[in-house]
This record gives sequence, structure tokens and C-alpha cells, in this order.
Amino acid sequence: MTIYQNLIAGEWTGAEAVENINPSDTKEVVGLYASGSAADTRNAIAAAKAAFPAWSRSGIWERHVILKKAGDEIMARKDELGALLAREEGKTLPEAIGETIRASQIFEFFAGEALRLAGEVVPSVRPNIGVEITREPLGVIGIITPWNFPIAIPAWKIAPALCYGNTIVFKPAELVPGCSWAIVDILNRAGLPKGVLNLVMGKGSIVGQTMLDSPDLAGITFTGSVGTGKRVAVSSIEHNRKIQLEMGGKNPMVVLDDADLSVAVEAAANSAFFSTGQRCTASSRLIVTEGIHDRFVAAMTEKLKTLNVDHALKTGTHIGPVVDERQLKTDTDYIEIGKKEGAKLAFGGELISRDTPGFYLQPTLFTEATNQMRISREEIFGPVASVIRVKDYEEALAVANDTPFGLSSGIATTSLKHATHFKRNAEAGMVMVNLPTAGVDFHVPFGGRKGSSYGSREQGKYAAEFFTTVKTAYTLA
Ligand code: NAD
Repeated sequence: MTIYQNLIAGEWTGAEAVENINPSDTKEVVGLYASGSAADTRNAIAAAKAAFPAWSRSGIWERHVILKKAGDEIMARKDELGALLAREEGKTLPEAIGETIRASQIFEFFAGEALRLAGEVVPSVRPNIGVEITREPLGVIGIITPWNFPIAIPAWKIAPALCYGNTIVFKPAELVPGCSWAIVDILNRAGLPKGVLNLVMGKGSIVGQTMLDSPDLAGITFTGSVGTGKRVAVSSIEHNRKIQLEMGGKNPMVVLDDADLSVAVEAAANSAFFSTGQRCTASSRLIVTEGIHDRFVAAMTEKLKTLNVDHALKTGTHIGPVVDERQLKTDTDYIEIGKKEGAKLAFGGELISRDTPGFYLQPTLFTEATNQMRISREEIFGPVASVIRVKDYEEALAVANDTPFGLSSGIATTSLKHATHFKRNAEAGMVMVNLPTAGVDFHVPFGGRKGSSYGSREQGKYAAEFFTTVKTAYTLA
């Protein structure tokens, strides 16, 4: 089997490789992907540092053309790349193609942003002096990504980093190197100069840690778990390095008595179970007021009966497998914890076997949960959700906000008063009204509060905040 190698200083390199396994069919090896060393990582950082002076001064048209070409190729290959994504991560083919389209749109967006770079010219408070405020590239950016959005998250970090003139050392998650390799290959062929974008696949403890230990990374943009995010933060203080952290979630979805039941059920089922519940914006706390509670639980249970869990590439699959054995164990451990804590298992909870050996788990719904239970406080990151019964809107809001996290927050209601109040008072970076807590646009800011995020927002024009540094220049006229 060919080894998909690392790209360091414009050369494909690496003989050590690991298998990329399909979670829908563990007999299938998706490919062999290089596993980089600490020395590879240091070489990649050195290459990005050497490439920075020229790339940071490159013309905006050159950046535009490369980003646009990448976006166009990703769109042209959406079915093929979507199938690769579904095979390595396990989300269904329509979800995977949707994510691939989004990656293409992100490159198109930042291709446009490259042409819109601008500063400000303002008068000084002193006579005969002019002031210019400009944004300059930050330097070498370390990009560390998780496994659950194998193409969209790399795209939303790589595209702005390049757009604003930075060079990159990119380390994708071990479980899903395939899509990352593909977009690096696309950008490399689109004409990026050697060393501007370096790919080092491999272990977090080796490649990732070497990045954290380097004094030469001016910034690290990280998406992943809270534990790893904290390591990124601590190491970065020592190096006076800028960081952007997107971490866990325990997102609430409030359902009020006056909600349209079918809207609420569609939004809740999507939020909790699509993409196998493996989204940082997934909702795992369904906070439901008394008057609609029993009807909501009955309708949710009926809905869950209609969802097929199966091979990600199979037509008619609604929920693919869990990503790997370790995550499956976490999910089933939490199901046991929920039962022991006294929540009632209303649906699912069992492993399922299918034609191919894979990590198949029924969508699992608990009822009679409280917000103090571990299943309500800790991120599970699987197809497991709990219904928490509350008295009224005021209690629902208080419970929704009673969490260490603050990424996304949703409400199903037909009341303008409650929707408006919730938008203003939900302690989250993103608020959804009559929509799933997951599923966001690519051209507007993405990020959270409290334990979910640290640093400035990702995506849209707000991305400039992290990927640039501001300069204020004074000139005597
Ligand atoms: P993880 O923290 O285990 O891994 C994330 C990345 O960090 C991987 O590339 C990993 O190899 C790397 N890493 C591990 N140890 C490292 C170290 N010592 N130094 C440097 N890098 C290291 O997270 P995961 O399991 O891949 O992803 C799941 C988590 O990601 C969930 O908590 C989920 O909520 C979160 N997530 C958050 C968002 C968001 O935008 N808030 C989006 C997607 C996923």
C-alpha cells in the first residue's frame, strides 16, 4: 500500500506509517498515513519560519488565486472527498459531502477576503501627523485539529492563516489523516511556495507536544478536548504565544410548552444524534417544560425508532458508527453511569451488529435526568442525550446556563418574548431559535464562552483577529 506522506518544506517525506481504519467496517484500511517524529516536526517549523518573510509579503492576488483554486477543486471532488471522509470518520455520506462543500465554501470566502484586506487612516490628535492602522500576518501558525470534522475544521483554520499571510505547521487528528492529506495536496498543487504549508501527521504526544514546546510558533489555533486545550494554553504562556482554543460543549436545547412539537423534535433529534452526536455543538441536554414534556418524550421516542444506524456509505443510513473503540467505551460507560445515577433509559443504550464489523450504538435517550447528574455535566461526545424536566421558562433558562460550557444553546418556542429573552440571556457563543444547536454558516463568527472557548472567534471576517497583529504607524507630514 502507498504511504500518504507528510509535506515538509515542499517535499513529501516519511516512511513510518499507521493504518487509517474505517469505523463502519474495521476490516477496511482506508490508507496508510505517515506518523511523524519530533525531528520531522522541528523541520516543519523551521521550514515554515524560513518561508514566512516571502509569503507574508506575497501579493493578495497570488493568495486569492491559490485559495480559489483549492476551493474549486474541493467542490469538483466533493463526492470523492465526502466518501473518504465518511470512510475515515463514520458520518453518513450526505453529512460528509455537506461538510466537504462547506470546506470548499470556506476557501472561496477567504479567497475573497484576501482581496478585501484594508487598514484605517486617521488623523492624529497632534497637528501635522498622520496615523495608519494596519493588520500584519502573525508569523508561523500551529494548527492542531480534532477528528470529528476532518475537512471543515482544517479548512477553517488553514484558509484564514494563508489569506492573512501566515505560514503553517498543521497537525491533524491521528484518527482522520485522509481529508487533511487531501487538502494539503490540493493547496500544494494550487501553487503554494515550498514551506508555506507543512503537514505533520502523527501522535499528539509527539508531533503536537513538539509544536507546543517550540518558541518559533507565533500562534496556535487548536480545536479538541478541554484537557489538551489547557496544555496548549499553559505551554503558550511561556512562549508569549497567541492562542485560539475551541473545546468541549454540553449544549442545552430548551423546549417550551408553546413550541411547535414537530419543529422541537426535529431540532432535538438532529442536535443530539446526527453525526452520531459527535459534534461540539451537539445538544445532550434537552430541557423541557412540564406542559409539553410527555408529548415531547413520546414523539422523540417515535422519531428515534425511525433512525437507521448503519454503515456510513449505505443509502438510508441516518446515523453512522461511533468513531472508534475508545469513544464507544466512553459512550457505553456514560450510559451505565446514567442508569446508576437514576435517569430512566427511555430509548436505546445497546450496541448493534450490522453486516460489517463496526462501532454501532443505538441513539440513546434518558428521561427523568437532573442537571446535577454526570451525564448532564460532562461532555460524552456520542449519541446520548437526556431529557431534564423543568417547571417553566425561567427554570429552563437557569438550567441551560448552569454548565461549565458555553458553546451553543437552543430554544424551541413560538413566543417572541421568550425567544428574544433567550437570545439575550443564554450564556453561549451561539444561540439557535427553532433550529438545531449544531449546523452553522461559514461566513459568520463561530465560538463559545466559559469552558468551551478561549481567544478570539473563528470564521468569517472575525478570523482576522487571531491571524493578524495590528500595527499603528505615525508619520510627520
Ligand atoms: P483531543 O484533545 O484528544 O485531540 C485534539 C488534537 O490534539 C489532536 O490532533 C491530538 O492529536 C492533539 N493532541 C493530543 N495531545 C496533544 C499534546 N500533548 N500536545 C499537542 N496536541 C495534542 O480531542 P479529540 O478527541 O480529537 O476531539 C474531540 C474534542 O474536540 C471534543 O471535546 C469536542 O467537543 C472538541 N471539539 C470542539 C469543537 C469546537 O469548535 N468547540 C469542534 C470540534 C470538536
